[in-house]
Amino acid sequence: MKIKAKLYSGVGILFLLVLLLAAVGMYNLYQLKNNAIGTVSDNYNSLRYCRNILGALDENLNDSLVFADLQMNYEKQRNNITESGEAELTQKLGQGINRWKNGDHSALLMDELRQTTYAIMDLNMSVIHREENLAIVMANRATIWIAISGTLSLIVAFTLLLNLPGSVANPVRELTSSIRDIAARNYSRRLHFDRQDEFGDLANAFNVMAEKLQEYEHSNLAEILTEKKRIETLINNMHDPVIGLDEQNHIVFINHEALMVSGLKESEVLGKPAQDIALQNDLLRLLIADLFENKNNEKPLRIYADNKESYFNKEVFEITIKPTGENDQKLIGHVILLKNVTPFKELDIAKTNFIATVSHELKTPISSLMLSLKLMEKERGGTLSADQKFLLASMKEDSERLLKITGELLNLSQAETGNIRISMSACDPSEVLSRSMDAVQQIAQKHQVKLECFFPNEAKMMNADMEKTSWVLINLLNNAIRYSPAGAAVTVHLTHDENYVKFTIGDQGKGIHPDHASKIFKRYYQVPGSEPGTGIGLAICREFIEAQGGEIWFDSEYGIGSTFCFTLPIFR
Ligand code: ADP
Repeated sequence: MKIKAKLYSGVGILFLLVLLLAAVGMYNLYQLKNNAIGTVSDNYNSLRYCRNILGALDENLNDSLVFADLQMNYEKQRNNITESGEAELTQKLGQGINRWKNGDHSALLMDELRQTTYAIMDLNMSVIHREENLAIVMANRATIWIAISGTLSLIVAFTLLLNLPGSVANPVRELTSSIRDIAARNYSRRLHFDRQDEFGDLANAFNVMAEKLQEYEHSNLAEILTEKKRIETLINNMHDPVIGLDEQNHIVFINHEALMVSGLKESEVLGKPAQDIALQNDLLRLLIADLFENKNNEKPLRIYADNKESYFNKEVFEITIKPTGENDQKLIGHVILLKNVTPFKELDIAKTNFIATVSHELKTPISSLMLSLKLMEKERGGTLSADQKFLLASMKEDSERLLKITGELLNLSQAETGNIRISMSACDPSEVLSRSMDAVQQIAQKHQVKLECFFPNEAKMMNADMEKTSWVLINLLNNAIRYSPAGAAVTVHLTHDENYVKFTIGDQGKGIHPDHASKIFKRYYQVPGSEPGTGIGLAICREFIEAQGGEIWFDSEYGIGSTFCFTLPIFR
């Protein structure tokens, strides 16, 4: 039975029983009042009248007052006839009184009057007795009914009192303690209410919930542990060093490779602030140095690993998550990954060495070739025909190009191996400028490009390598001329401030598309569709300028022209 039905029926039955008790009581009281007391009061009146008549009979009836009193009581009795036979007796009494009035004052009449009065009294007395007995019977019956319904009410009330609070409070108490157990992650807790009511349903629902939670926790934990192990194994088996930091930059994981290259021990670093470890570890210091700026170093890090000098490219990734129910991404840490690029670097070094050797070896024969060509040009070996002169000029041009390329390759290989020989001294920028202008004069004429030069009257001296700076300026001027249309102008501005001398080379050429802007200073990079070249001129320019403590950059409007600038420090 449902709790709701139980409550309704318990309280309802109690209510009905109280109603029944009241009805039984009221009914019996009403019966008693109507049947017994109502009837008996008329009989009592008759007795009173008769007693008064007897009193008058015992006194002197000749006294008119006494007789009047007798008559009055007789009249009252005549109007109070209730029992069968009472009317005849009363009539007989009236006839006797009339006989007295008519002069019969005999003792016989008096006796007859008395007997008749007694007979009326007996009649009423017997009724009173009968009614009295009836009232007793009714009262007894009422007592029994009231007792029965009262006992029933008491039993029901007592049963409810015993059962109802417990049947509601006990399951609630048990449920409360079970919920507390569940909150304390004791998911094995179950409720056993062996009943078919709402609490039974509640227990079933609770047990299902606990079972699911238990299953969820076990499956979840196991899954998470497996996933964790999988990821740990994956990270540990990576040949690249990996370090994970949380949002407070505490080290949360570090793989074997990272431990090996850093010489750290896992137990010493896990959970510790990276900054603290970096105080005693050079590699970690290098790794977290620019963590907060989040810039990835272009140049590979040189680290001793695998018993040799190794090269690593550092990459820093931000780890962000979107917490459940939230819209914004939250940073929860960083992962530092060192990509081992040693094999590529070794190949690169081999290539650089090869290029350096080849270009060096080529330089001497090309130079002697050019010398021979010069002698032939001066017709030392005999007179040349027009065709031979033409062929000689083209051979000379090709040899010059070859010499330029080998020179550039040599320069680049020197820059790559860090072997640039720079000799810094006080140089006059105007001299560098005029030297370079002279060098490109011929090619400018050939391309029909006008050269314009602007420089201050008193140029400050700069601290630079005259040869290298001239090389850079010539290279930039060459490019500007090559990429300019015929009739255009190439301008060179020389300016300076307190710290730097600045060369600005502007052209009205085709410009550089923004897609290629970030790559043109890279080695061997050529914008597709450009003039044939090596793609190394600008890379060497950057190496040379940076090696002298300067900076080089460019601005370009595609289709309008480009402006290349470089600065070099003032001589102090
Ligand atoms: P290259 O010897 O092939 O010209 P550089 O390193 O000097 O190599 O130049 C790299 C690329 O930059 C070229 O392919 C060219 O497209 C572009 N470039 C250099 N200077 C200019 C310029 N003044 N105007 C337009 N493009 C230029």
